[in-house]
Amino acid sequence: MINPFSKLGISDDVVNAVKELGFENPTPIQEQSIPVLLEGSNDFVGLAQTGTGKTAAFGLPLLELIDFKSNKPQALILCPTRELCLQIANDIKNFSKNTPNAHVVAVYGGANIMQQLREIRNGVQVVVATPGRMLDIIGRKAIDFSNVKYVVLDEADEMLNMGFQEDINDILSTTPTDKKTWLFSATMPPEVRRIAKNYMENPVELTMGTKNTGNVNIEHEYYIVRARDKYAALKRIVDFNPEIFAVVFCKTKMDTQDVAEHLIKDGYNADSLHGDLSQQQRDKVMQRFRDRNMQLLIATDVAARGIDVNNVTHVINYSLPDEIESYTHRSGRTGRAGKTGVSICIINSKETGKIRQIERIIGKQFTKAELPTGFDVCEKQLFSLIHKVHNVEVNAEQIDQYIPRIMDEFAALSKEDIIKKFASLEFNRFLDYYSKAPDLNISADERERGERGERGERGSRGAVNADYTRLFINVGSVDEFTRGDLLGFVCNNGKISGKTVGKIDLKGVFSFIEVENASAEALLANFKDVQFNGRDVRIEVSGEASSSSSRGGGGDRRRSGFGGGERRSGGYGGGERRSGGERRSSGGGSGRREGGNSGGGFRDFSGRSREERSGGGRREGGSGDRRRRS
Ligand code: AMP
Repeated sequence: MINPFSKLGISDDVVNAVKELGFENPTPIQEQSIPVLLEGSNDFVGLAQTGTGKTAAFGLPLLELIDFKSNKPQALILCPTRELCLQIANDIKNFSKNTPNAHVVAVYGGANIMQQLREIRNGVQVVVATPGRMLDIIGRKAIDFSNVKYVVLDEADEMLNMGFQEDINDILSTTPTDKKTWLFSATMPPEVRRIAKNYMENPVELTMGTKNTGNVNIEHEYYIVRARDKYAALKRIVDFNPEIFAVVFCKTKMDTQDVAEHLIKDGYNADSLHGDLSQQQRDKVMQRFRDRNMQLLIATDVAARGIDVNNVTHVINYSLPDEIESYTHRSGRTGRAGKTGVSICIINSKETGKIRQIERIIGKQFTKAELPTGFDVCEKQLFSLIHKVHNVEVNAEQIDQYIPRIMDEFAALSKEDIIKKFASLEFNRFLDYYSKAPDLNISADERERGERGERGERGSRGAVNADYTRLFINVGSVDEFTRGDLLGFVCNNGKISGKTVGKIDLKGVFSFIEVENASAEALLANFKDVQFNGRDVRIEVSGEASSSSSRGGGGDRRRSGFGGGERRSGGYGGGERRSGGERRSSGGGSGRREGGNSGGGFRDFSGRSREERSGGGRREGGSGDRRRRS
């Protein structure tokens, strides 16, 4: 049987390489664009979402059109972010692994330019670049684009959003006029149209799906809650989806940190991604997310650009984007590679108009969903646990030695009693938290009155009033700590609950951390002989007064084994992977998750060398290059 990629005109070397990657059949976008692009004689505009197989759609034809006997750059691919740049370069390297003398270079900001220059000097045919760094290299006269035959503008709308228009103009002006330009974009705002008009001649236009339409595999839901119940609503959604693996979008860096910190304190496996993190910190956070050692990634729009993690079950819009067009990019983080996903908006009653606007843009209707009751959550968690128990692999070799003692202990109990007890062990904990949980859905009546309800969820933010002690600790961002890391480090070594920790002020070589008075005492007593990278770590009461007022915890997941949110101390703390269970997202996402829910999600601070950890604290402004807007 002829391979479907061969049928499209792809040569054996490349077909064999994609086969090894598990590509059996072309995706719809590949099916449509490969034959057109292989002709090599047209400009091209492809309207396509991320995650649809776009990279191979242009990457495979490029490999057929390039003359690999020559070591001159013949294809230039421009994309908005460092992450996407690395991803595309890596994909094309994989596609060309059997192609003799194929050389691909990734050129992006925030990395050593000398290495990139060296690779260019050694000879490359495909250059994948972010605009800022590309221009830098052109400015150094370190690259010759006179043989470029194809320029790909990937995620063109994003590049323009990020203010790269001028850079793109400048770069394109250094390439031959008879080159072909292939533009891919998820949306087609007038600015992108203008590029197509200015730089292209009668481009072949293909729309994969309807124009501006969100991925068909994504369900869109919204929940209306009071503004102050947003956090409780987020937790309830997460608790109702025990296997959730989600990106949560916030508008500002502060919000991402705030939400992530509260989630971490409440025992969830979360961290934040925003532009203030150094590149190393960003990479670390992304790696944890990719490895499924983190369940909830709380991100700003800019920081999340180019996130290319498959199997994300949910995108949660904790706040709606200012620019409605960004919604398509946010929701496109789920439902990738043929999987299904759910994009959720948590809104207040005044924002329903925005939902209608988004519906018009994506050409799809939202479902107005009701937040589950506390009882619904308990039931869902209970059966998730039962399902896990049912499917757990028994390590007979290890457990058999204990079975006689366990049997003795249970001798007087019937099978039914034992099952009840096992189920209750965890069920009780969620029940404790949720038994008095209020209905967070806003009633039609309240909606009309404009959210004047006065209820708040037990344990939701701001409920406790405790005095805090401000502590000084001699580690900080130069040690590559994020606030989540520091919280884990302090709690693990000081043996205190993260719930008692207030504000964390991460500085360069030191940090301040506010802890409830009683816990601060315990922490100071326990925090003895702690070392980090061979250095003594000191924690002491700071001269400055505590600024924290109140920090309520929320449903403390650590108390619960449900959903794997339990934080462990010591050597277990490093986001250790467990074997995965079948994912059952509310959006029906399928496929196995490798890591399952990990314990704790904090780093293992033991035994990593200084080299591995050095260089933190450098402010490189995150992904992409120079011009980010927020
Ligand atoms: P992209 O839109 O290029 O980022 O691709 C999204 C994901 O789909 C990536 O993980 C690709 O490896 C995967 N993918 C692309 N094309 C195919 C294919 N024909 N068959 C299976 N997976 C694919």
